Amino acid sequence: ATCRYSTAALSIEEPISPDVEVNHTQLLINGQFVDAASGKTFPTLDPRSGDVISHIAEGDAEDINRAVSAARKAFDEGPWPKMPAYERSKVLLRFADLLEKHNDELATLEAWDSGKPYEQAAQIEVPMVTRLIRYYAGWADKIHGLTVPSDGQYHVQTLHEPIGVAGQIIPWNFPLLMFSWKIGPALACGNSVVLKTAEQTPLSALYAARLLHEAGLPPGVLNVISGFGPTAGAALAGHMEVDKLAFTGSTATGQAILGLSAKSNLKRVTLELGGKSPFIICEDADVDHAVEQAHFALFFNQGQCCCAGSRTYVHESVYDEFVEKAKARAMKRVVGDPFKGGIEQGPQIDSEQFEKIMRYIRSGVDSGATLETGGDRLGKKGFYIQPTVFSDVKDDMLIAQEEIFGPVQTILKFKDLGDVVKRANNSHYGLAAGVFTQNIDTANTLSRALRVGTVWVNCYDIFDAAIPFGGYKMSGQGREKGIYSLQNYLQVKAVVTPLKNPSWL
Ligand code: NAD
Repeated sequence: ATCRYSTAALSIEEPISPDVEVNHTQLLINGQFVDAASGKTFPTLDPRSGDVISHIAEGDAEDINRAVSAARKAFDEGPWPKMPAYERSKVLLRFADLLEKHNDELATLEAWDSGKPYEQAAQIEVPMVTRLIRYYAGWADKIHGLTVPSDGQYHVQTLHEPIGVAGQIIPWNFPLLMFSWKIGPALACGNSVVLKTAEQTPLSALYAARLLHEAGLPPGVLNVISGFGPTAGAALAGHMEVDKLAFTGSTATGQAILGLSAKSNLKRVTLELGGKSPFIICEDADVDHAVEQAHFALFFNQGQCCCAGSRTYVHESVYDEFVEKAKARAMKRVVGDPFKGGIEQGPQIDSEQFEKIMRYIRSGVDSGATLETGGDRLGKKGFYIQPTVFSDVKDDMLIAQEEIFGPVQTILKFKDLGDVVKRANNSHYGLAAGVFTQNIDTANTLSRALRVGTVWVNCYDIFDAAIPFGGYKMSGQGREKGIYSLQNYLQVKAVVTPLKNPSWL
């Protein structure tokens, strides 16, 4: 793969120019790139500087209508849901090959638009996207119903049919990965899609959608709308011709989307929302490994992960050692221009998130937590924040209860397992948890007692395409990835036929 960034040692005050052209800035409707009906555009910004990368067509309700009509027609009249399933599979496999070929361009757009390290995008995220598309390509021709026992008078079978038009709304923290989690299962099952990207990060999905059309996707099967939540997003969630809505983002927006579904056509909704995930380090844990993994669990992707290990519970017997080492690790974290080699952390996504995180840091200090390191901005421009560690955090502090979505680790002390389970579960969220112990019985006990959708034992953020992901409680509804995501995009139809002659004739 060619190197897409200059390795010149530039400081964060002088952003490195990304080596890629922004070719797709319009809406993708019915296989064509088109302007918004209103003619409006909005700027997408570089988080390293706040400068404009490009002006993007701004879709709103009228464009959502156009896109839903195209998707409806593609589903009702087009070949996609009716073609042999292995033909759908072939399109997705060709798409995966193109993703692999364009790995570096996609990673460059992703890093530029979202501020994540280029190497992270190029070596981890885009390859994960490719893998996930191949995974769902493999499912396309393995979806089938059952023959159901009846009382002997009827032949009963179930058909697993695509739902129809799927609306999908994605966030800005993993733009291309979320695009793939949404479209992979939907398309494999034969649905058509209208997907709205996050207004902060429209670029990579438009590029990838173009590749999917190159791979042979019929027009109208995937439509991509850039635009804002209250206009384009709400129009999609409330649309009468959309049969299913999948959303990833904040819990508040998830609640609004459920309301819009209820008030329109009761479209099926799956939600992947926020979290405040406990990361539990038991007294027998390998402390050095736990320090490294807890650091990764919180700081990965600038701390902008729904499943960030954002409540680090440490057993009192190893607490002091852990705090010292966690602080030392955070102080070593390499922050800088995402296009420089060896960078671990880039800027936060935008000024709104930057300000919100700084408010949480101030709240941590004001409420009496110990600021071990960090706590300030880095550089004069862009949205860089120092890796920050708080110790002596108490459960009732805001920084222990709310999603900070930034590079701020909060360390709490616990005495025994009963205590930590109660405290870990005392949250409206229930997305994920980390458990660090060398005792299999402790691992089994905690894995079962924690009310969360994923438990990572002695590891964190393992995201294979086959592993289901989703939340308990206010962290969401339904599961994505793996075999579970197929259920989100299928209807079950029972077909009952009388058996006219006795079966023994
Ligand atoms: P958000 O929920 O507002 O945005 C996510 C997506 O929903 C975007 O595409 C947005 O345009 C759309 N949206 C917003 N309002 C909508 C509406 N009324 N109807 C339909 N769609 C709508 O999230 P945000 O404002 O970008 O971030 C706020 C917080 O959300 C973050 O600080 C973080 O805590 C959380 N978040 C979680 C995730 C996650 O992966 N679960 C991702 C991003 C943000």
